[in-house]
Amino acid sequence: MGLEPDPHAATKTNATISDGKKTGTKHFWRKGPMLFARHGSILPSRCVKCNHFTTEPLKRQSFYWHPSAWNLLYLFTPIVYRLVAKIVRRQADVTFALCQPCRRKRLIVVSVGYLGILASLFMLMVTLNARDDKPTESLLCVLGFVISFVLMKVVCRRIIPVYIEDSIVRVKGCGKAFLLSLGEV
Ligand SMILES: [Zn+2]
Repeated sequence: MGLEPDPHAATKTNATISDGKKTGTKHFWRKGPMLFARHGSILPSRCVKCNHFTTEPLKRQSFYWHPSAWNLLYLFTPIVYRLVAKIVRRQADVTFALCQPCRRKRLIVVSVGYLGILASLFMLMVTLNARDDKPTESLLCVLGFVISFVLMKVVCRRIIPVYIEDSIVRVKGCGKAFLLSLGEV
């Protein structure tokens, strides 16, 4: 598997691999809406959200994943779950770029989302504690809570791992333009 030519590709270091052309091995690629990356990959110096070239320092992030069945343990004993999760989890480190505008946009959306959630909960408590019954106001508060939560979860989506196997991580949440710029398997 070879890499697509990329003028902005990051340089290769001893510890990590950003370019598979020399070894004939592909280190990151797309498949549908997912990014696949080998442990230690350095993605191109383009924002993973908007695909714009960025001079921002690349960020090395450790992604962790474990089979979701282990989450059941959390329901019974969260402390044991945390210990077990550290043992059974798989890890893959990937270095990528996120441009300043996307960072700022994320910060604004997260701030607005948190404020919306807090305001909705506060107004809901005030409404529920009021002597006269106000179902419409209560419903609006719940609606505000849901909208704020969705705003944070959908608009401000992180890139998150959904599966790790053989030191290859599958990541969702990258922008479409960025994914299309990568080679496909
Ligand atoms: Zn961006």
